[in-house]
Amino acid sequence: MPSNSQTSINRRVCIIGGGLAGIACATALAEHGFEVSLYEARKHLGGRAGSYQDQGSNEIIDNCQHVSMGCCTNLQKLCRQLGIADSFETQKQLHFISPDNQITSFGESWLPAPFHLSLAFWRLPYLSFQDKKLFASGVKALAKAPYSELRGEKFSDWLHERHQSPELINRIWEVVLVSSLSESLERIDAAYAKKVFFDGFLANRKGWRVEIPDVSLDDLYSQRTLSALQEMQVNVLPNRRLRRLEIAGNKVIQAADSNDNYVEADEYVLAVPHHQVTQMLPTERRDHPLFAAIDKIETAPISSVHLWLDRRITDLKHAVFVEKFSQWIFSRGSSKNKENKQTHRYQIVISASRNLSNMNHDEIVETVMNELKEVWASAREANVLHFRVITEKRAVFSVTPGIDELRASQATHIPNLHLAGDWTSTNWPATMEGAVRSGYLAAENILRKYDIKNPVLAPYLKQSVLSRLIFGKR
Ligand SMILES: Cc1cc2nc3c(=O)[nH]c(=O)nc-3n(C[C@H](O)[C@H](O)[C@H](O)COP(=O)(O)OP(=O)(O)OC[C@H]3O[C@@H](n4cnc5c(N)ncnc54)[C@H](O)[C@@H]3O)c2cc1C
Repeated sequence: MPSNSQTSINRRVCIIGGGLAGIACATALAEHGFEVSLYEARKHLGGRAGSYQDQGSNEIIDNCQHVSMGCCTNLQKLCRQLGIADSFETQKQLHFISPDNQITSFGESWLPAPFHLSLAFWRLPYLSFQDKKLFASGVKALAKAPYSELRGEKFSDWLHERHQSPELINRIWEVVLVSSLSESLERIDAAYAKKVFFDGFLANRKGWRVEIPDVSLDDLYSQRTLSALQEMQVNVLPNRRLRRLEIAGNKVIQAADSNDNYVEADEYVLAVPHHQVTQMLPTERRDHPLFAAIDKIETAPISSVHLWLDRRITDLKHAVFVEKFSQWIFSRGSSKNKENKQTHRYQIVISASRNLSNMNHDEIVETVMNELKEVWASAREANVLHFRVITEKRAVFSVTPGIDELRASQATHIPNLHLAGDWTSTNWPATMEGAVRSGYLAAENILRKYDIKNPVLAPYLKQSVLSRLIFGKR
């Protein structure tokens, strides 16, 4: 809600794109008294963190389960601002399904970071002692290496140079990084691999804690977010696609929709996915190096397999597969279907899912079901009552080696044009945290223009003393 101490600033901001980046930017500016209009092309807010109505089951299902971690301090801040922070459940343990289908629980001990997970790690049954030693030295070298040295290096090369064994690569490095960065190891910039391990597992004991919403993404980032934004006096305009920006000299003068309805504002924030940025600009502006670089950013797919089964197969809320086709499974609750039969819904997530493109949906479901049957006896008896396979081809931008040279800063050479979106320069991979950070950074730039120096960005989790002594300061 806008703080009463903030006086209204007679400045209009037009934000194009109602994903988490646009929402975060709108929230921060509305709190400082700006007149904010948020234009969203679709019916609902939330962008990629959204849900849709499944025709077969008539249920609202998330396009893909979204999880966050304790290190996502800006997402947490936004959720508090929007009044939705109570809808997440922090997982005290992760559950790993080993190549031989045993389930191992993995959680923190009383030891301070960076050792809080070490007891659980040394107990993992599917890694040899030799591999565990190799991993410990590998992760230490990664955490100690300066980002500037890692940037631009292929992470698979980095691993080979450190003699990490194939088992170790498949069973630890790949499991953690493919699901958090949605890319294969040979397409990951080593600096982003460090980011995941350092912020997630080594800096602070809370960093790794996985948070899973207990309601749909639609409930969180569309319905309740819409009410919160309206309370903050943000003018939210869903179903309103703005098609182009008109720029005269060094200034955006208006934005237009396809019916040539014009929107005028003092500041414009383009918070759309990276592959939609340049098409909104006048043709003669597109070859500016900033925009030309954006067009070179690549994307990675994520697939989710939604299964409605006739019985419960596990009580676990989630589990992580090691060296399997499936990567994560989430239990999504029970409900009655149209025939009044009890159904139990599970969602299996497969990141960087390029290998699925030559399989049809029946084959994908069969492969997944076969894996579930190997782990849970009840899955062997289960019937698939309904399924849905969704592959988002451009789910996230790829953190390919050298990506930082392509990511644009939120401020542009056109003083009243700002950029936001997970793909802009935040140092974070394509995540909700990255999107929120980008929105806050764009808002900070605008605030500074009007001499408001309040920081918007939430600080990182504090690095523990031991972590600082061993790896150096963040
Ligand atoms: C399948 C999948 C799984 C994921 N899993 C996770 C996860 O577990 N954890 C995590 O942290 N992140 C996850 N992500 C990534 C996360 O969803 C994104 O990083 C984040 O939501 C991006 O937010 P954004 O605001 O930058 O972009 P978007 O969400 O893409 O928002 C952009 C918005 O702009 C709108 N728009 C586009 N053009 C126009 C226009 N011309 N006029 C008006 N509006 C327009 C779009 O409709 C959209 O709503 C996942 C993404 C996908 C696709």
